[in-house]
Amino acid sequence: MTQSVSLFIGGEFCQSETSDWIDVTNPASNDIIATLPCATEDEMERAIDSALQQFKLWKEVAVSDRARLMLRYQHLLKEHHDELAELLSKETGKTTVDAKGDVWRGIEVVEQAANIASNMMGETVENVATDIDTYSLIQPLGVCCGITPFNFPAMIPLWMFPIAIAAGNTFVLKPSEQVPLTAMRLAELFEQAGAPKGVLQIVHGGKTQVDYLLSHPTIKAISFVGSVPVAKYIYQTGTSHNKRVQAFAGAKNHMVVMPDANKAQVISNLVGASVGAAGQRCMAISAAVFVGESKQWIDELATEMAKVKPGVWNDQAAGYGPLISQQAKARVIGLIDEGKAQGAKCQLDGSQCSVEGYPDGNWLAPTLFSGVTTDMSIYQQEIFGPVLVCLEVDTLEKAIELINNNPYGNGTSIFTASGAAARKYQHEIQVGQVGVNVPIPVPLPFFSFTGWRASFYGDLHAYGKQAVRFYTETKTVTARWFEDDIPSGPNMTIQLR
Ligand code: NAD
Repeated sequence: MTQSVSLFIGGEFCQSETSDWIDVTNPASNDIIATLPCATEDEMERAIDSALQQFKLWKEVAVSDRARLMLRYQHLLKEHHDELAELLSKETGKTTVDAKGDVWRGIEVVEQAANIASNMMGETVENVATDIDTYSLIQPLGVCCGITPFNFPAMIPLWMFPIAIAAGNTFVLKPSEQVPLTAMRLAELFEQAGAPKGVLQIVHGGKTQVDYLLSHPTIKAISFVGSVPVAKYIYQTGTSHNKRVQAFAGAKNHMVVMPDANKAQVISNLVGASVGAAGQRCMAISAAVFVGESKQWIDELATEMAKVKPGVWNDQAAGYGPLISQQAKARVIGLIDEGKAQGAKCQLDGSQCSVEGYPDGNWLAPTLFSGVTTDMSIYQQEIFGPVLVCLEVDTLEKAIELINNNPYGNGTSIFTASGAAARKYQHEIQVGQVGVNVPIPVPLPFFSFTGWRASFYGDLHAYGKQAVRFYTETKTVTARWFEDDIPSGPNMTIQLR
């Protein structure tokens, strides 16, 4: 029997009363693996209210106890790492290696959440005037919410609720309707770690449920990760309701290949960074900019890329899994057709692809276009599939100009043997995360995930110190104590215990 996914409200896993259900499918077969309820208005209200009631208690819990919850959670997540990865593979189609990476990157954020006390320290200036000191307190906001995409079902929810909760908030998570199962398991483990009832809730659904969160007066902050149009909508709607919003959006990430780079490194890194995880990573390299003579490596790159085969999650030989849905596959094939029609050279066409035993999966083989120009739709749009577009320029300056003219600013990298070229690039490029001979420069969680321009709407980014600032408010206290008021007499001895 197909599993029907629960809601998680007030510490209870409960069945929804809704009549509106969505099928969750395994992208390798398109078999239905679960049905997902779109939470009713009453259920949304109960989830938000549970979070609000628990906030009144949770914000008073000592910071070291909140940190200890994260230590226990980290331990449990590590213990269940492989099981979580297997579940995640089932709903995303990711290979075991990719699925384990997804879980692990989330665990690293929980480790950072356990370090909450040192990230919640305020500042003090003594004697701002005679006998007057000013100091700041960092306090939680209240009920925060998170809306997450399909492509990292463990990592992205874990970007959000552990830090928000460690900082003293309570949380309502609305995972992607395409991959809800991993989030439910994350909640079970959180409860097992000792999270009090109502600290975390999970609701399900789509636009209607998101809209409920965006306009609800109790919600103080919204963390969103997903596509550009939805990110813009979330940012505009959330801020118009006076909420704090961070919205991480789509990307077109460029790798600049300098002629002095190590060719073997360039080719192996470009293959992995472009088609790995079926290109369904917001930090995937989807455009390669070959400077000068490095363009001669494109044929060899295509040959190496053709060796990578998609396959099912537990196939050790599979380079990556299927696309998330039939619609996603049809969209990518539509863009590949547009690329051909607009005059790009399709050196590797992955649109006809099958995997033995899985005739109905959403498969696409690696695809490579050369001779791409900036006016083509395959360059302008985020493809989100195993497709690499190659452009050619004469100089590093031209590469920088081209990339800075692209609206996105999530990640980029340069491959070069020249420190001077790398330094010029990191300094002048208008992109928030830069790799030097590193293809996918995702910072570890003691830094923050700092996408720029059309890839991010908001001010404070995910994880690291910026996330703690996002989920907290600063209160500044100015205090004056008069020396004359110090009582004197026999009772002034301080009793030390
Ligand atoms: P999506 O925008 O379709 O969905 C994301 C979330 O928004 C889901 O929970 C969904 O239910 C909800 N949603 C969808 N349409 C909505 C609407 N009209 N109104 C309100 N809510 C809505 O994104 P996706 O396809 O799940 O994820 C892929 C996208 O996410 C890609 O564009 C990728 O680049 C981006 N992404 C960005 C980052 C980053 O850090 N910048 C990280 C991962 C993914």
